[in-house]
Amino acid sequence: MRTAFRASIFHCLADPGQAAAESASEYVEDGMLIVDDGIVTALGPAGQLQSTLNDDVRVEDMRDKLILPGFIDCHVHYSQLDIMAAYGEQLLDWLHRYAYPEEARFADVAHARDVADAFLDGLLANGTTTALVFATVHPQSVDAIFEAAAGRNMRLIAGKVLMDRHCPPELRDDADSAYADSKALIGRWHGKGRLGYAITPRFALTSSEAQLESTGRLAAEFPDTWIQTHLAENTEEVEEIARQFPDCRSYLDVYERFGLVRDRSIFAHCLYLDDTDRAVMAARGAAGAFCPTSNLFLGSGLFDLEAMTGAGVNVGLATDVGGGTSLSMLRTMSEAYKVLHLQGQPLPASRALYLATLGAAAALGLEDRIGNLEPGKEADFIVVDPHASDATSRRAQTTNSVDELLFSLIFLGDDRNISATYIQGCRALTCLRGK
Ligand SMILES: [Zn+2]
Repeated sequence: MRTAFRASIFHCLADPGQAAAESASEYVEDGMLIVDDGIVTALGPAGQLQSTLNDDVRVEDMRDKLILPGFIDCHVHYSQLDIMAAYGEQLLDWLHRYAYPEEARFADVAHARDVADAFLDGLLANGTTTALVFATVHPQSVDAIFEAAAGRNMRLIAGKVLMDRHCPPELRDDADSAYADSKALIGRWHGKGRLGYAITPRFALTSSEAQLESTGRLAAEFPDTWIQTHLAENTEEVEEIARQFPDCRSYLDVYERFGLVRDRSIFAHCLYLDDTDRAVMAARGAAGAFCPTSNLFLGSGLFDLEAMTGAGVNVGLATDVGGGTSLSMLRTMSEAYKVLHLQGQPLPASRALYLATLGAAAALGLEDRIGNLEPGKEADFIVVDPHASDATSRRAQTTNSVDELLFSLIFLGDDRNISATYIQGCRALTCLRGK
C-alpha cells in the first residue's frame, strides 16, 4: 500500500560533527515522504512529488508539522521503568537498593507483560521506534518484551541478563543455564520479523569467569547477535574490577579476553576509558552508548564524545532508564548538550539528532535499515508539532531556521510535541490520549 505524508522533513545523512554541514543533513520545508508497504520510496519537495501520485494514493497533510526519523535508544532497562527517580545513591548501592528488588518481580510473567506494554507505549509516545533493551535474568521477561514488540511491529533488540555472583540469590543464573537459556531465546526470537537478540552479561562484576567464558562461546557461535553490557560507569566499580581481574590491563580488557568486544557489541557509559581502550573498540567495530541523564543522576561522570568519535568509535544516545530519568530522547539530547558543554564540546541540534537517529543506527549496525528517511529505509518516523505547548509554540515563532527550531524543541519539548509515531508507515498508539 502506498501513502504520502506532506510536512516539513529533516533528517541526517552523515555525522554533522565529522562531515561538512551542507552534506550532513537534509531539510525540505514543504516536503513529501512516500511510503510503499512500510518502506520509504521517495522524499523530496511536495511540489515535485505530488504530480507523480495516482489519484487513489492517500496524502496525509501535516504542513504545519515536522517529520523526523524515529528515535533510537541504544541502552535501556525495561524492567526499571517503575523505579525511575529513586533517590540518592551511586551505582553499586543503587543497584542493590532499588534495581535488584524490582527486577526480582519479573519472575512473574504477568508482571513482566504489564511492564513491557507500558514501557513500549512509553517509548512510542516519546517518539522512540527502536531500542536496545535489557530484560532481567528471567527468560520469561525476554519473551514478554519480544511479544509486546512484535505486537507493535517495532524493530527491537533485547536479551536475558546474565549474572551469577555479587547479586541477590534469587537473581542468579549460572554459567551453564546462562548459555542454554540464551541459546534457546536466540532460536526463538533472533531474526524473527524485526526482532534481534542481544547477549546480555550485566557487567563484569556480576559474572564469574566461568560465566564470561560461556558468554564468549555464545558470542562466537552466534556472530550476528548483538552483545550489550555496561563498561566503566563509576569509579568505585572500576576499582573493584581492577581488584577482581588483576591480570587485565583495563575494564574493557576483561571483556576483550572473553571475546565480547566485537562488531555489534554496545557498551553503555564508557566514562573511564583510555586511548588504548578506544582504539580497541574502534578496531573491533564495538560501539558506545552515551547515557547523559543516568550519568548525571547517579553522579557517575561526564561522557567524552570527542575522544570516542575522534578515535573512530560509533556512539549512540541512550536513556538508560531507570538510572536514567526519562524515556524522552528530547530530554536526553538536552542533557547530552549540557554534559558536553561542561567539557567545552559543542553539540548543535543536528548532531544531537544524529546521535539519536542515524548515529544510533550505525552504533547498532542497522544504518542500512533505519536511522533516516532515505529511499529504501524502513519508514519509522515521528511527526513533531511545535505548537503542542505554549512554551514551544511561542519559541517557534521567534526561530529563524530549522536548526534553531529543533534546538528549542530539544530543550522545551516533551511527549506532547510528538503528535504521532509511525512504525513502517503505520500510525502507532492511535488510542493513546486521543492521538
Ligand atoms: Zn544500564
